[in-house]
Amino acid sequence: MQLYQNQQIKIYNSLSGTKETFKPINDGYVGMYVCGPTVYSNVHLGNVRTFMSFDMVFRYLKHLGYKVRYVRNITDAGHLENDADVGEDKITKKARLEEIEPMEVVQRYTVDFHNVLKTFNFLPPSIEPTATGHIIEQIELIKTIIDNGFAYEVNGSVYFDVHKFDETNEYGKLSKRKLEDLIHNTRELDGQSDKKNPQDFALWKKAEPQHIMRWPSPWSDGFPGWHLECTAMSTKYLGDQFDIHGGGMDLKFPHHECEIAQNEAAIGKSPVNYWMHANMLHLNAQRMAKSTGNTVNPDELLSGNNKFFSKAYAPSVIRFFVAQSSYRSVLDLTDDGLAASEKGYNRLMDGINELESIKTASSSSFNVTEWQQKCYDAMNDDFNSPILIAHLFEAVKYINQLKDGSATITKEDLNLLTTTIHAFTFEVLGLKNDAKEAVGTDKLAGAVDLLIKLRQEARANKDFALSDKIRDELAEVGIQLNDGKDGTTFTTN
Ligand code: AMP
Ligand code: ZN
Repeated sequence: MQLYQNQQIKIYNSLSGTKETFKPINDGYVGMYVCGPTVYSNVHLGNVRTFMSFDMVFRYLKHLGYKVRYVRNITDAGHLENDADVGEDKITKKARLEEIEPMEVVQRYTVDFHNVLKTFNFLPPSIEPTATGHIIEQIELIKTIIDNGFAYEVNGSVYFDVHKFDETNEYGKLSKRKLEDLIHNTRELDGQSDKKNPQDFALWKKAEPQHIMRWPSPWSDGFPGWHLECTAMSTKYLGDQFDIHGGGMDLKFPHHECEIAQNEAAIGKSPVNYWMHANMLHLNAQRMAKSTGNTVNPDELLSGNNKFFSKAYAPSVIRFFVAQSSYRSVLDLTDDGLAASEKGYNRLMDGINELESIKTASSSSFNVTEWQQKCYDAMNDDFNSPILIAHLFEAVKYINQLKDGSATITKEDLNLLTTTIHAFTFEVLGLKNDAKEAVGTDKLAGAVDLLIKLRQEARANKDFALSDKIRDELAEVGIQLNDGKDGTTFTTN
């Protein structure tokens, strides 16, 4: 008997706009796809929040005994600067600016992403496919969409015919947009002249001569459109229809809307049963976004090396902070909020540490079984982690009463309390008892900053042997110096 047979999850489905009872396609198995990062820069804490939300979903489903195939991709080609299929490929642009190979960009930021995931105690997904590893699948998908009459080729590029699709299907159903409104609101942008209509989106783009990332196809040497990779990879690994698809709220339109259209055009089926969208992380009441520069990277927050926060915070404190709000609410990252979370996290850990020294009695003054079900009920209600945390604090209050002798607990209840609080804190919320590490991180940052300054002085004195020695020897102990236009920062692995 698995736990999921007794626990009924409800998921807020962005497609229907309601909480729905979760029923996987195959009993006991869950297929989940989450859009991964575009690896052209370091991930910021906004990205981390979204991936953390789905890590918690993954963890809870596994805790319930589901066999979960969790696919989270790496976007390493095809993501243009502008969602309307214009502008440079983000990775190509970075490669041009830094005078390195696009695949060096991809490698650097994939490594950074993996380091961040490790720092925050993420579970690895079951499959982590890349867009460039699935060019053949994407080309095949385009051929099918063309054969089905929903795409057309112009000058070596292939576009999805949104207007044709909307005659028989409903374009915009996820983001609640109507094609007429989109027509009304679309501005003509340069470079769109190949399209029949501005709302059409690229499935394949012919590469300009200077574009390095290119592959042969029946239409031209070029590269796939961004939306296509997720359709190709999700259906390859999870089937034409699968259970859960996740991503940040900002991906609803156009990315996920286009995924639905591609799937319906190719296979005739809506791909996903439950669409889940994590809300945005804000910084200073403004969305954290690479494009506006309003970002804090994990390293900067963990080291205290930033202009926004008064001190360093441990990875688990940040995880706890994220879990204290529902994944569907906007979350504002503030010093006060993090400081409060640090206190709360310490209180929870102290409570858990006390469990070992609790003495048992012949009766319990608190209904532990009922409390345990309340923890499940919270998570069953669309993964409501803040309510779960409120219940964990209820248990901490009880533990403190047990400590001062004003409450009692039986041996069985103490076992149940201990296993449940451990399961929810460490297994489901993914917290670790690592707050003390932050102090170490703080000191490390100070020491590395000093070495960065000494290296700058060495460079100013044209002592390149010394400056290279500092960089190389730090790299040997796992500390990477990154020279950027705003100075040198460091990452650890
Ligand atoms: P990207 O690398 O830009 O494709 O983004 C990776 C993931 O991070 C996507 O699911 C985005 O929706 C998500 N994301 C980007 N900015 C934020 C933010 N400020 N808060 C939460 N999630 C975000
Ligand atoms: Zn995607």
